[in-house]
Amino acid sequence: MAGEIFQINYENRDILNALRCHPEIEKTVLAKELNIAFKTLNKQLEFLEQSGFISMSPQLEIVKDRFYMCGISVGGSHCKLTLVNAQYKVISAEDMDKLCNKYGVFQQSFFVHRKNTREYGYKYFDTPDNLATLEIYINEIIQDIIRLDDLSRTSGAGELPPIISIGIALTGSIDLKKQIIIRSHNVRYLKNIKKEILLWPDTRYELKKRNIELIIDHNAKAMAVCEKFSLYHSDNKNHEYAGKKNIACFYLGSGISCGLILNNRVIRGARNFSGELGHIQIPRMPEFEGDALPKERCTCGRMYCMEHLLIWDVLGMSRDEFRKITSEEIK
Ligand SMILES: [Zn+2]
Repeated sequence: MAGEIFQINYENRDILNALRCHPEIEKTVLAKELNIAFKTLNKQLEFLEQSGFISMSPQLEIVKDRFYMCGISVGGSHCKLTLVNAQYKVISAEDMDKLCNKYGVFQQSFFVHRKNTREYGYKYFDTPDNLATLEIYINEIIQDIIRLDDLSRTSGAGELPPIISIGIALTGSIDLKKQIIIRSHNVRYLKNIKKEILLWPDTRYELKKRNIELIIDHNAKAMAVCEKFSLYHSDNKNHEYAGKKNIACFYLGSGISCGLILNNRVIRGARNFSGELGHIQIPRMPEFEGDALPKERCTCGRMYCMEHLLIWDVLGMSRDEFRKITSEEIK
């Protein structure tokens, strides 16, 4: 059954995306939405149903546990790993624990315990201060994903979904087309790094052999895309905004950024720098005008960046102090 994953082409990816947004849609409406002939749509739906991706009765619906996708977020102070199902739903903390214990994965000593107020299955590790260590962490995680993928082929039907893709989200300017980290202000060693550099040759070979796709992108833009699909979940607290063509998602981590979707398209900017709100230069608030500026510059090298002034003037902290606190502590 795993082999059929590789037959997912862009046309039936479009169908899956449409079903994510409009479960229960009528076939005739779907054909019209996707601008394809009804006969062609029917053929593709049959393939998707036979391969276990969708169910057609009583209504059209994605089979949510048909596959997992893995997300790794590399932030300025900490990194996060999770798995999402075919409906872009993050697996629960309970399911993540079960999976880790049963298959002995994601148990490396670099993982740290972090208080997670939500019941999501996240695994955390501190962002290393050098590229070589980050590479070790990422490659060890991917080796576990490869092991899980192998186990999914031998396990009983539906017991362990195959992992079809890995997304690594980073801060700063990421060229999605060329798959290059141009510059990540909060992680200084990530500058002009091609995706391939992050992966050991063995890892690259194993991923290619299994057709597991690995993509790097900007964290806030990736978040906006995930949010766009998540809005359609009836239990999403912002469900009433599902179907909106324009979305802005703010990301508060070691810096401030924003993922922008306008007219259903992710806005990247001419230099892939759109949404890096934290580095927009702003005047100081009048009450701080006479105060001395901090000695350290912003991570981008300038002095009047929004996030730099927010950390220094409003929160009264150094960048290092800010990195160590959690969002709960700021509240
Ligand atoms: Zn800056």
